[in-house]
Amino acid sequence: MTQTVPRSTGREPAAGSPPTPEQALAELLAGNRRFVTGTPHHPNQDADHRAALAGGQHPFAVIVGCSDSRLAAEIIFDRGLGDLFVVRTAGHTAGPEVLGSVEYAVTVLGTPLVVVLGHDSCGAVQAARAAASTGVAPAGHLGAVVDAVLPSLGRAAERGVEDLDGIVDIHIAHTVEALLARSSVLAAEVAAGRCAVVGLSYRLSAGEARMVAAVPVGAGADAAESPAGGAARPPAAA
Ligand SMILES: [Zn+2]
Repeated sequence: MTQTVPRSTGREPAAGSPPTPEQALAELLAGNRRFVTGTPHHPNQDADHRAALAGGQHPFAVIVGCSDSRLAAEIIFDRGLGDLFVVRTAGHTAGPEVLGSVEYAVTVLGTPLVVVLGHDSCGAVQAARAAASTGVAPAGHLGAVVDAVLPSLGRAAERGVEDLDGIVDIHIAHTVEALLARSSVLAAEVAAGRCAVVGLSYRLSAGEARMVAAVPVGAGADAAESPAGGAARPPAAA
């Protein structure tokens, strides 16, 4: 991964020149810092850029995020059109359509970074916890969302983690693992060094996204200084 890409000028990354996973993560976290501090640049949102993108897209990150209305990716990472390939479900599940969408971005579009984006006070995790405690499955297709989150509740219980936001972080890391375990295509891209998968945990009030998982372990650690100034060293996604 010796490819070099100029630092952001507000219109980067350049089309047709995907950055490395580390550069992509640094770009994303820099945008989040601008958002947190109330100094967004709103890059790549002008009419000229819109028109220039019509011929093709080269997003530098895939966001597998929760559907929560407060988690709009282009806003919280201060990006614009063509920057992020966003796949959202309640509770950032890793079902077949999500996996197919991630594989499309990584293999066809050459996107070098996959980000699992969860957040505190997640309603999907709360719904799963309610179902687990009452033994009553939710009606309709919400049951599929709950079923996707339940394994993370089990893992949290094994570790003695009971607070909701601690469970959220475990669920984010679990989703990172699930993407890699269920998609041999994604796993191969990561093994070849062309892609990394990281988990970011977002705080609704502060607007800050911090890293809670990374594959390869340590991917983007240099870029992971939190907006609050503390170093966020990524643990293994185990
Ligand atoms: Zn959520």
